[in-house]
Amino acid sequence: MIAPSDDWSPTISKPTKMAPSCSPINSLHVAVIGAGAAGLVAARELRRESHSVVVFERNTEVGGLWVYTPQSEPDPLSLDPNRTVVHSSVYDSLRTNLPRECMGYSDFPFVPRPEHDESRDPRRYPTHREVLAYLRDFAREFKLVEMVRFGTEVVRVEQDGRKWKIRSRNSDGVSRDEIFDSVVVCNGHYTEPRVAQIPGIDLWPGKQLHSHNYRVPDPFKDQVVVVIGNFASGSDISRDLTGVAKEVHIAARSKPSETYEKLPGADNLWLHPMIETARKDGSIVFKNGKVVQADTIVHCTGYIYHFPFLNTNGYITVEDNCVGPLYKHVFPPALAPGLSFIGLPWMTLLFTLFELQSKWVAAVLSGRVTLPSEDKMMEDTNALYAKRDANGFPKRYTHRLGVVGQAEYLNWIADQIGEPPVEQWRNKELEDGYVRLATQADTFRDKWDDDHLIAEAYEDFLRQKLISAIPSQIFG
Ligand code: FAD
Repeated sequence: MIAPSDDWSPTISKPTKMAPSCSPINSLHVAVIGAGAAGLVAARELRRESHSVVVFERNTEVGGLWVYTPQSEPDPLSLDPNRTVVHSSVYDSLRTNLPRECMGYSDFPFVPRPEHDESRDPRRYPTHREVLAYLRDFAREFKLVEMVRFGTEVVRVEQDGRKWKIRSRNSDGVSRDEIFDSVVVCNGHYTEPRVAQIPGIDLWPGKQLHSHNYRVPDPFKDQVVVVIGNFASGSDISRDLTGVAKEVHIAARSKPSETYEKLPGADNLWLHPMIETARKDGSIVFKNGKVVQADTIVHCTGYIYHFPFLNTNGYITVEDNCVGPLYKHVFPPALAPGLSFIGLPWMTLLFTLFELQSKWVAAVLSGRVTLPSEDKMMEDTNALYAKRDANGFPKRYTHRLGVVGQAEYLNWIADQIGEPPVEQWRNKELEDGYVRLATQADTFRDKWDDDHLIAEAYEDFLRQKLISAIPSQIFG
């Protein structure tokens, strides 16, 4: 359950506010890794700040995660480090889990566009295809594709004196080393699965897969399926399965041990607490004592940060899914500003975060905005870790912003770069959207009671001349 009380409000320290620098603007040669929603806006902001930019993208098109493929990985739990990696974790039925108004970049709203053909989805919570179409529109509008080197994977990033060496490999297997002044990492964080530990699983005879490899429900026809996880993907996938499976049982770690609920919206869907044990006779025992004979377990248990190309001689580590040390989740103090990361925080307005972080990185690289000293950045980072520990949160929650913390964090960055604070309607849409997602899992995409926020958003777009009229079909 997501509620404002879940926030642990990361440290937002006042004294580190950066004064605009008087030094001349530096125009640097910058590498961006990835052409998803983060890499595209990073490229735009870097170029706007006069840097020369090369975007490395191992796929053949822009859009990252939103480029759906029916293909999944051969290893259904994605445990084999030598497997062929499929980047996208999007399933066929996926619709956005946030309203579209709050998902777009600040000056290119994610609205149904009048010129759009019938293949476009004007709904408030559209399909993944509409998000990809939006990102393609964005790339076209700002002429970003010309900066992207498609089919080119970054395989190694390391310091070379004060610069950075990037080794890339193209689709013909040809490697190339190049030197850049700076590297901005935008490689996405929803590809390397985290799998639940289940007592007895080694002897359990059924099938297991991670949601990363789930595409359509058909292979689960007439099966009894246990879905671990009840957040966005777990909730969606379990409902997707109810149409074909015999029974679907959700195991939710956050639920008290007596939980046993029949969920609305389907007659074959139950909610349980976490699994107690898996047995070699094929049964699954939940912590509420209920036992089901299951065919498949689907792990909707999230992802881990993974930077297989990054060599910082051990300076940057990923420990219990905390990437660090990073000042404000972006700059490693000892390697700043040459190396930066866009998009690590979660439970936030992601596209807004990508845009603000990108503007900050671009302005720091050009010298228009300065960072505090390495010591001060380290102090701030340690204070964040201390606050996290004092609040009893595990390391893996370091990059979780939450409803209150995210607004503070985004406004802090906006303030550094002289941008206005994030619109209230946008923050409120995120907050209300998360509550709806958690409490009305079966209906939240088609029923809502915040038309006033939609109206505010569109009036804002109109006032800024980002749209010429309010589309007729947007209100529920
Ligand atoms: P990605 O989109 O993953 O892009 C990273 C890019 O980097 C990819 O194109 C990849 O090919 C490339 N790349 C990776 N490694 C290399 C390398 N070594 N060399 C070259 N290229 C490389 N967010 C929302 O705001 N709303 C939603 O409704 C929503 N739904 C989601 C549903 C699911 C199932 C998931 C998993 C996430 C969802 N998200 C949603 C979050 C989503 O991840 C972000 O919205 C966002 O699109 C991520 O963008 P990104 O650029 O950080 O990463």
